[in-house]
Amino acid sequence: MPLIQLIYMSRLAGHDETSLGPILSASVRRNTASGVTGMLLYANGRFLQALEGDESAVDETYARICRDIRHEDPLLLSKETITQRQFSNWSMGFRHMSEADARHLPRFAPWFRIGFESADISQANSVARDMLAFFKEEMA
Ligand code: FAD
Repeated sequence: MPLIQLIYMSRLAGHDETSLGPILSASVRRNTASGVTGMLLYANGRFLQALEGDESAVDETYARICRDIRHEDPLLLSKETITQRQFSNWSMGFRHMSEADARHLPRFAPWFRIGFESADISQANSVARDMLAFFKEEMA
């Protein structure tokens, strides 16, 4: 079974940040059971998430996530075979990105301040990867 990493972005529905905690706890519980690892970034009503694991587990998880009414407009940015996991220690790492993060990280600041914008990020896919990798190192 190939090992896959999938990255997508979406918008929080109804600006209801109280759903972040339950989303994260359900993610950790389900991913621990299915062997999925990854990282979820949140900024200003937008999500950016990496999921990795066996292809069937990642596909099932992503299909379930896409049906979730707590967010909207999921946009798949990439899905590729990997040789090793990038987020092996995280059943789901999470960072709620703040204005302080934006000040410390001017390179990524536009995405923190306005949220992840699909047009910008899909044209600069490497930025999404760089951000996910950066926060993994910071949280390690
Ligand atoms: P159930 O728990 O039966 O829920 C069915 C639906 O009810 C959900 O789709 C949701 O729309 C709604 N719902 C569930 N709980 C609540 C609640 N507390 N408040 C309001 N509505 C609710 N799941 C993973 O397994 N792994 C992940 O990495 C992951 N990442 C996510 C990232 C984002 C941005 C979002 C929005 C969701 C994510 N989820 C993730 C959650 C996923 O969408 C499912 O809710 C979860 O996997 C449970 O699936 P289920 O079929 O058991 O749904």
